[in-house]
Amino acid sequence: MPGSVPRVVIVGGGFGGLAAARALKNAPAEIVLIDRVNHHLFQPLLYQVATAVLATGQIGSPIRNILRKQKNTIVILGEVTGVDKDKKCVFVKDADRTGVPIPYDFLVLATGVTHSYFGHNEFERFAPGLKSLADAVSVRNKILQAFEQAEAEEDPSRHRDLLTFVLVGAGPTGVEMAGAIAVLVRNTLKSEFRRINPEKARIVLLDMAPRVLGTFSEHLSQAAKARLESLGVEVRLGNGADQIDAEGVIVAGERISSQTVIWTAGVAPSPAGKWLNVTTDRAGRVRVQQDVSVPGYPEVFVVGDTASLDQDGKPLPGVAQVAIQQGRYAGNLIHRVLSGKSRPGPFRYFDKGNMAVVGKGFAVLQSGKVHLSGFVAWLAWAAVHLQFLAQSSLRLSVFLQWIWTCITGQRGSRLIVNHHGGELRTQGPQETHLELAKTSK
Ligand SMILES: Cc1cc2nc3c(=O)[nH]c(=O)nc-3n(C[C@H](O)[C@H](O)[C@H](O)COP(=O)(O)OP(=O)(O)OC[C@H]3O[C@@H](n4cnc5c(N)ncnc54)[C@H](O)[C@@H]3O)c2cc1C
Repeated sequence: MPGSVPRVVIVGGGFGGLAAARALKNAPAEIVLIDRVNHHLFQPLLYQVATAVLATGQIGSPIRNILRKQKNTIVILGEVTGVDKDKKCVFVKDADRTGVPIPYDFLVLATGVTHSYFGHNEFERFAPGLKSLADAVSVRNKILQAFEQAEAEEDPSRHRDLLTFVLVGAGPTGVEMAGAIAVLVRNTLKSEFRRINPEKARIVLLDMAPRVLGTFSEHLSQAAKARLESLGVEVRLGNGADQIDAEGVIVAGERISSQTVIWTAGVAPSPAGKWLNVTTDRAGRVRVQQDVSVPGYPEVFVVGDTASLDQDGKPLPGVAQVAIQQGRYAGNLIHRVLSGKSRPGPFRYFDKGNMAVVGKGFAVLQSGKVHLSGFVAWLAWAAVHLQFLAQSSLRLSVFLQWIWTCITGQRGSRLIVNHHGGELRTQGPQETHLELAKTSK
């Protein structure tokens, strides 16, 4: 025991970790929530930051602010680097120390996933992924900078390459990004440039799968594809990216020249399985028992994207609802044990359905037997996403921004912010000509 009051350590303040912490609000324990960033992030709206609709502060909130009224909870900014499950402590790296041991009586690991380039880590340099706020700002910079670079470029033959956007991976993130870029070029940017016509931007969405949104029904996946094509997106299925470099992408032997390639494909779990040295599934996610605890260690729980659990013979998907429900379940279980009650029955996921947005005012929705596409599905998407934002101030701010963007076409945050210096140029083989004296149409 770390002290007289039992201690619950939660690693990760994402959907799973936050739900666990909230479920322990009135528990007779000290709750220590550790995250390597100071904010909880609403990842489903990351693509809107990457396409300049929303600002970073509209989809993220400081974790300590969210939990400010929870008097039994302490929030620590630090990165967990390992777990000693026999000595019952986690090791933390913070700003000036490494390997600081933090003992626990109960441990909840909710550390999510990171990008996976399917063994091609060399692609990362040229095709950033979308997982954190820093990623979203970097993708936003890349997209907005491409237009600036094209406007400054006097050689019109280079405009097409500069204005070609390739999204690798046609799951929900790729589809949502492609739709949002299409709306950006058609609505927001169209009248602001003189040398280039943003509407002529080429947006390519590619995937080796035979259809977009593979987890949705065939019918909804076709509706999403048709909608993307009506927005001018080129959907190329059946072949993945063989090569990604500074010149663009090679797909099925064909080079697509592009300065802006965005990785919207695979993810890999956090190293929680390695820290614990326990059985993982093929992807590396920790195999948990029906009560989301680790076999042989009833005080250690793994929830959300970094856990692997089957229900009715199928693995649970890596979505926010699974993480929230598992986090809440683990928190309630620990609370019961701490209060001298019996452990609850096994965890059971209640599937509320799947949704994805495709451009302005259009979404696909699949919930049980209900399959919808179009504006009504978009209204449901908007309501659900507003409801699940962490704080009411964010709900109001996002709602107002959406209305403003809908009416005016204007976006909330179109600033190019280079946090690491003022370099104007994205990587590329040729220099950009910044001689603005002559303007050619
Ligand atoms: C772009 C995008 C769009 C998505 N859209 C949807 C959607 O529309 N609907 C849906 O249901 N799901 C969506 N998802 C998936 C959903 O966001 C995840 O399933 C969910 O976030 C998983 O929750 P989690 O708690 O397991 O992990 P996360 O929410 O990722 O939280 C993990 C936390 O752990 C912290 N952490 C990680 N490692 C360490 C460490 N070593 N030390 C300390 N802290 C650490 C991280 O900083 C983070 O705060 C989307 C995901 C992405 C990336």
